[in-house]
Amino acid sequence: MKVNGYAATAEKSKLTPYSYELGPLGSEDVDIKVSYCGICHSDLSMINNEWGMSQYPFVPGHEIIGEVLAIGDAVKNLKVGDRVGLGWMSSSCMSCEQCMDGSHHLCGSSEATIVGRNGGFADKVRGHWSWVIPLPEGIDMSKAGPLLCGGITVFNPIILAGVKPTDKVGVIGIGGLGHMAIKFLKHWGCEVVAFSSNPNKKQDILNMGANKVINSRAPEELESIAGQLNFILNTTNVSLDWNSYLMTLAPKGRFHTVGAVLEPMAIPAFSLIMGEKSVGGSPIGSPALTKTMLDFCVRHEIYPQVEEFSMSDVNEAIAHLEEGKARYRIVLKN
Ligand SMILES: [Zn+2]
Ligand SMILES: [Zn+2]
Repeated sequence: MKVNGYAATAEKSKLTPYSYELGPLGSEDVDIKVSYCGICHSDLSMINNEWGMSQYPFVPGHEIIGEVLAIGDAVKNLKVGDRVGLGWMSSSCMSCEQCMDGSHHLCGSSEATIVGRNGGFADKVRGHWSWVIPLPEGIDMSKAGPLLCGGITVFNPIILAGVKPTDKVGVIGIGGLGHMAIKFLKHWGCEVVAFSSNPNKKQDILNMGANKVINSRAPEELESIAGQLNFILNTTNVSLDWNSYLMTLAPKGRFHTVGAVLEPMAIPAFSLIMGEKSVGGSPIGSPALTKTMLDFCVRHEIYPQVEEFSMSDVNEAIAHLEEGKARYRIVLKN
């Protein structure tokens, strides 16, 4: 089967139309007709080969929403025509301890949708049935794409950390990931404090459901909530004064990062010891939790705030994201 997509042909190149053959459908494979695909920062990192693992020509895109076109003969949970989503991961081994435990996203031999294979900036994409997530009835397909990567990335920590509805929580960095985190935590029942360095976003952030916006560049504002937060989720990938955030945690509070900060994070031991605080991190989440998250989104009408571009305008969309103008997530429409 022939796939028509948009590929980077070299490091940092613009995307150009590119067609390739998918080859025979494996017995556990699912082919998807792509309706929408979100743009994630990881797509940019892969286009620019920031992680040294990009292979060109390379079709980005891993926040895919579409319809099942074909299924292999061993696929039991899906049928042709089903509406589905496919995120960062496309396959896992289904037999290791992590897979058997339901943590397919921690499988050591899993495959990512855009690493060594082509993604969803195309008319079709292929995945293993385990990661092709059936969409709940009533979901808004035009906005759901970013939930498949960015959404589950910030939803999983809420479960991992056992965040309670009575908790007071903080979110650092209100972009694509952070704005979805605010919406989840708000509907979870929490009091939500947003940390942002951009005063222009304040009203937007309050509209998303935050109870309070703290200017992260103002130390006295951080001090004003010292010892109050039960949970902090960091979504930025830049180095901050982490200790000043640890000081805002209540005793037994947890600081959790999903932002891939490249430099080592300076965490003074005493800031953890006094007050039994902890620091952790996580990647995306399991397929089962992704499904649960989508149900939660439909129940509460939680969607990312998206800007829609046509798939053929992919280069303009990428430029918009690179210039920091995305409010707050971009979706490409086929
Ligand atoms: Zn992503
Ligand atoms: Zn596995």
